[in-house]
Amino acid sequence: MRKKIVAGNWKMHGSLQGNAALLDRLVAAAPTLPCEVAICVPYPYLAQVQAKLTGTPLLWGAQSVSEHASGAFTAEVSASMLCDFACRYVLVGHSERRQLFGESDAVVAAKFVAAQKSGLVPVLCLGETLAEREAGQTMNVVSRQLAAVIDLAGVGALATSVLAYEPVWAIGTGVTASPAQAQEVHAAIRAQVAGLDGGLANGLRILYGGSVKAQNAAELFAQGDIDGGLIGGAALVADDFIAICQAAG
Ligand code: PEP
Repeated sequence: MRKKIVAGNWKMHGSLQGNAALLDRLVAAAPTLPCEVAICVPYPYLAQVQAKLTGTPLLWGAQSVSEHASGAFTAEVSASMLCDFACRYVLVGHSERRQLFGESDAVVAAKFVAAQKSGLVPVLCLGETLAEREAGQTMNVVSRQLAAVIDLAGVGALATSVLAYEPVWAIGTGVTASPAQAQEVHAAIRAQVAGLDGGLANGLRILYGGSVKAQNAAELFAQGDIDGGLIGGAALVADDFIAICQAAG
């Protein structure tokens, strides 16, 4: 049985004061939450999050990581730096990184490997644009993005990772994939991995992300191949995020 995860992606939002109030609410609710809960926050807030969440069941991480271990890479943040703040997770290949910052499949795969080398659990984001879906390319795109990581890291590396299917057209748009649409892609992702290692595929957690809200979370999370959610906007509102976590029960 795969334990569900609900992970929040704060994106470039937050302030020390606002975060404190949100984190206090999450810490208070944590003992009642039926799933694993993590938040991926902007780098400058990792120390604050570590201080607030250490000793609670809540986990944390970052939203990207350098593919390099160290060196003259101005403004980059390495995986070992994230480990200094006790991060468990790091997002790699979020569609905003792919689309707005030009991260290719190869760069995403290199980041995945760098994260694992330091002991972080990468949350590998996969997903098609609206144009790609309308052209009938969804499965090709997602499978190509996943294959880039498998080719570099080996299928066995997926055992210590989490996948997230996030259709680009559903991120931050208020348009959610229907449970059936999401399940179809999740099942295809699991089948791709099963073609290489059936046992691993069975234990692999695949999250859905894209305008998940308290109102649609339970139905999405009830699908056979959906093992939780990656939550953007709703992760910034304590009541909404807590309700989404409750829906993973
Ligand atoms: C995300 O940023 O990964 C995301 C899914 O955002 P939203 O929930 O706001 O669509």
